[in-house]
Amino acid sequence: MYKVATLALLLTSVFSAQAETIYTGDKINGYPVIKKLDVNDLEAGKHYRFMFQGASNGIGQNWYVPILVAKGAKSGPKLGLQAAIHGDELNGVRVIQQVFEKLEPAKLSGTVVAAVGANPSGMLVNNRHWQFAMDSGSSVDFNRIWPGKEKGNSAQQHAWLMWNNLWAGNVTLFVDMHTQSTGNDFPLFIYADYRNPQVKKMAELFPADQIKKDLGEKGSVETTFVEHNIPAITLEVGKPKLYQTDLIARSVTGVNNILIEQGMIAGKLGRTAKEQQTYIGNSMNSIRAEVGGFAEILVKTGDSVQKGQKVAIQRNAFGDVLREYYAPNAGKVLSIGDDPMRESNALLVRILFNDPSAKCADGC
Ligand SMILES: [Zn+2]
Repeated sequence: MYKVATLALLLTSVFSAQAETIYTGDKINGYPVIKKLDVNDLEAGKHYRFMFQGASNGIGQNWYVPILVAKGAKSGPKLGLQAAIHGDELNGVRVIQQVFEKLEPAKLSGTVVAAVGANPSGMLVNNRHWQFAMDSGSSVDFNRIWPGKEKGNSAQQHAWLMWNNLWAGNVTLFVDMHTQSTGNDFPLFIYADYRNPQVKKMAELFPADQIKKDLGEKGSVETTFVEHNIPAITLEVGKPKLYQTDLIARSVTGVNNILIEQGMIAGKLGRTAKEQQTYIGNSMNSIRAEVGGFAEILVKTGDSVQKGQKVAIQRNAFGDVLREYYAPNAGKVLSIGDDPMRESNALLVRILFNDPSAKCADGC
């Protein structure tokens, strides 16, 4: 026991001796480039802007992620925010900007670090995935490969660099911001691992429309943080490729509520899940297209549906009905496919509900 403790102490001191912000000496668009961030060595009570150097691409240049830091005058918790790890999911960009417009480091206890656009490779081509140039081009879901690999492909290296050189040591709480994927719609919605009471508390500080008690997804940012004992949620802010004012405002309220609840800023809690009467479910059913064709969705996100209710009709190009789809159970409409063109297996309607069986208590 004693030996383990000594070793841990030794490792901690070695880690902290190495963990200093590393500036490459370059500037991009006027902002200093860093290869590693250590918020401990930044001067307290100030705002910072950096370009974080990520993986290199096929033409030997690097991908860069813009980083905002508010280092509080006093010490305290460290909140991390991230937007656009899926490249077409942009509402979170504006959430981060609005949070930082209001943050006053002189009145802040602790630190807020934000990555605005974690997946520049996908963002530039309006795609959720990380893009590869090799083998005529392919892509990978950049939210399924965390914490990455030091000697992996470019996506794995980018995740590894962000995990080890940006987030490690710099966050004690984390909000990863997403939207539904292109062609689909979400309300303000949260995936949260309710087995961790701090995660439950964080989720319910947001005035979201719906929360899913969820066991997580291996390789996702959220689950990687939770596995490392850092409370984290996936915040789904509506639709991709759009700024949605109401959903952005409620997300900012949720982040500010975290800052207040953690004692990082002074103030009174804004609207939370309680006032919003957030619908909290533990299971979901996705109704998917059985054939290709044009879908007319008969419900909206947030609607209550009954078992057996008709929720979608799919037609061919001539208007003949191919299929009709019915809700397999009662619940709340969590998501719809709002792009009418639907291939086989594309999402039509997703219903969030509560499964009363004991095995689903923490999420199914
Ligand atoms: Zn996403």
